[in-house]
Amino acid sequence: MPPTMVPVLSRAEIAQKIRTLARRISQDYADEELAVIGILKGAFIFLADLVRELTVPVEIDFVRLASYGSDTSSSGHVQITKELELDIRDRHVLVVEDIVDSGLTIAYLLDYLEQFRPKSVRVCTLIDKTERREVNIATHYVGHVVDHGFLVGYGLDFDEKYRALPDIYHLEP
Ligand code: 5GP
Ligand code: MG
Repeated sequence: MPPTMVPVLSRAEIAQKIRTLARRISQDYADEELAVIGILKGAFIFLADLVRELTVPVEIDFVRLASYGSDTSSSGHVQITKELELDIRDRHVLVVEDIVDSGLTIAYLLDYLEQFRPKSVRVCTLIDKTERREVNIATHYVGHVVDHGFLVGYGLDFDEKYRALPDIYHLEP
């Protein structure tokens, strides 16, 4: 049987949330420049939409992190599989993530970025999934909060499927 897909956020709701996030970020970094770092692969669509709404100048790079665990939860064994290439020394950095769950991926990345001596680092996530948080990390810009469930669409995959869907769904097995 195919899984049930329950709508969570429509493309119009996503676009509205991104405009709100972009306004706040643009205000907070007014007169500054921003190094935007997206986490592959999940954040590629969100990052593309977000940066086009920002009014501050940005430079963009991506890192890729692999976490070894089951399909629907991360194990905490995180590894960088694509290193940062942009020089972020003394730069304001905005990390862009699709969804924060346990927080282990972001915690690992924040620690990794420290070696490059950025001026500041903040996290922007489209979705903050709070129920399974294991580490206390600051998510400065949050588009939408859910407490649990496995979401797909708008960059979020299940086994590489559903990434290209324009809307976000809760996948029910
Ligand atoms: P964390 O390390 O915070 O537990 O997990 C973060 C990563 O797990 C995210 O970057 C994302 O790739 C994946 N993830 C966590 N929750 C979900 C979800 O509901 N749906 C999908 N597709 N991926 C998720
Ligand atoms: Mg992922």
